[in-house]
Amino acid sequence: MAQKSNLVIDPKSGFCDSNSVFYSKRKPIAHPPNPFLDVTTFISSRAHHGKIAFVDASTGSHLTFSDLWLAVDSVSTCLSDLGVEKGHVVLLLSPNSIFFPVVCLAVMSIGAVITTTNPLNTTREIAKQIADSKPVIAFTTGQLVPKLAGSNLRIVLLDEQSTPAVQNALIISTFGEMLKKQPRRTRVRTRVNQEDTATLLYSSGTTGASKGVVGSHKSLIAMVQIVLGRFNLEGDHRFICTVPMFHIYGLAVFALALLASGTTVVILSKYEMHDLLSAIQKYRVTYLPLVPPILVALVNGADQIRSRYDLSSLQSVLSGGAPLSKEVIEGFVERYPAVTILQGYGLTESTGVGASTDSLEESRRYGTAGLLSPGMDAKIVEPETGKALPVNRTGELWLRGPSIMKGYFGNAEATESTLDSEGWLKTGDLCYIDDDGFIFVVDRLKELIKYKGYQVPPAELEALLLTHPEISDAAVIPYPDKEAGQCPMAYVVRKAVSNLSESAIMDFVAGQVAPYKRIRRVAFIASIPKNPSGKILRKDLIQLSTSKL
Ligand code: AMP
Repeated sequence: MAQKSNLVIDPKSGFCDSNSVFYSKRKPIAHPPNPFLDVTTFISSRAHHGKIAFVDASTGSHLTFSDLWLAVDSVSTCLSDLGVEKGHVVLLLSPNSIFFPVVCLAVMSIGAVITTTNPLNTTREIAKQIADSKPVIAFTTGQLVPKLAGSNLRIVLLDEQSTPAVQNALIISTFGEMLKKQPRRTRVRTRVNQEDTATLLYSSGTTGASKGVVGSHKSLIAMVQIVLGRFNLEGDHRFICTVPMFHIYGLAVFALALLASGTTVVILSKYEMHDLLSAIQKYRVTYLPLVPPILVALVNGADQIRSRYDLSSLQSVLSGGAPLSKEVIEGFVERYPAVTILQGYGLTESTGVGASTDSLEESRRYGTAGLLSPGMDAKIVEPETGKALPVNRTGELWLRGPSIMKGYFGNAEATESTLDSEGWLKTGDLCYIDDDGFIFVVDRLKELIKYKGYQVPPAELEALLLTHPEISDAAVIPYPDKEAGQCPMAYVVRKAVSNLSESAIMDFVAGQVAPYKRIRRVAFIASIPKNPSGKILRKDLIQLSTSKL
């Protein structure tokens, strides 16, 4: 918990005013004033023609910047020919690949909206997202086509696989065919306003099930500028992308921001430690972005890793998506002294940015998520009173700035409870800001569980548990896990005559959700503690679950 401070805020220090609104101490960034600007045009206006934009780590196939922009124009031309228009939603169901960013940029360049989904999601989970976002077309791989079964969506196949499922699906084109299309300058014909919607990424926010986070061209452009401001990318740099591109972390940084800097991104289709380390060695990677569980694995396996792989090119690791403990940071610094560890804090709802540490010295304020990003304002709000608190006091972090989402898609109620009338986003994170402006994330006020950086919405698992005929009530909470950060744990009230076992409950859930959402612990309880209005008292259950640790 934060210590009490007697500090009187000096208005000249420039990071907090008399209303306890905190401002960024970073160098401000000028947002492009032209209202008619789409994010694709914004990024592509910076030419890096001869250089390589993306490399596939496993095959070595690559796209130069010239190839990339040609591909974007060909795909956007095909999309227009297929009747995709401004405002239409396009679904992308794919693992990371060098074509992932091409699809996103092409869709957004004609004013259409890209929605991505985790390839690990089940058909049922993807069907829910389709029902909510109503895409007019989908891009996917042959292997993933069965996950769109029953959707009746027109499909563009990203590869040339021909399985029985592919033969039965409504395939209207392949990506290879699209790339051969002579491009028309479709982008120029479509007037896209910065305020227009560009992305629909799914997040459960502070409560309930997954919702479509509406991101605009403006919020993406702001994110690109913030990310670029963080790094000195002079010279020859290569990032490696093992974090998922369907999530804002991968999409924001690798599919979009780095393109504007002309940096090469080496892409892994999924995380596997050996593949990651081999690719760092082979491509002389300088920046490694990751989530804390990978950092933990790097620390624990350091002796073996350093003897088997040449990681001498590595200059920085960037950690984001979940908190990083002091022990892990210290362990990493000790074992990899030549590598700078940098942190980033953000949400899908803030387009992945919010705060960051941009030097080892800043990261060594152990536990900090960093200084506010440029253009980002913050308040620390006492949950009980709604009062804005001064430095060193813990409350809910609220954020305001150009990268904040427009709201939740088709969900006015969730939007109103998350975004206030002045544009403040209620993050659901319990934080304090210290005397020097550094943000510390103390706890999560919201329901969200993060398993290896992936979102697990408890409400979704609770709804599923309640469909079991022998369960009368259930609550799902985060349980601490050394490797994954947190894992989902269920408290279950069985019906009077039931002998349902823990493992039967775990199997019941496992059969219906993506692997990362599986319930990994179960405890039985006589009744779920709730407040008078029926809200689950999760904190009581969290306390109960950890009281025996
Ligand atoms: P997502 O929308 O999936 O990116 O999840 C956002 C949430 O992840 C935040 O509200 C935090 O609870 C958590 N988070 C992200 N980055 C950090 C960080 N650096 N430290 C602590 N928690 C983080």
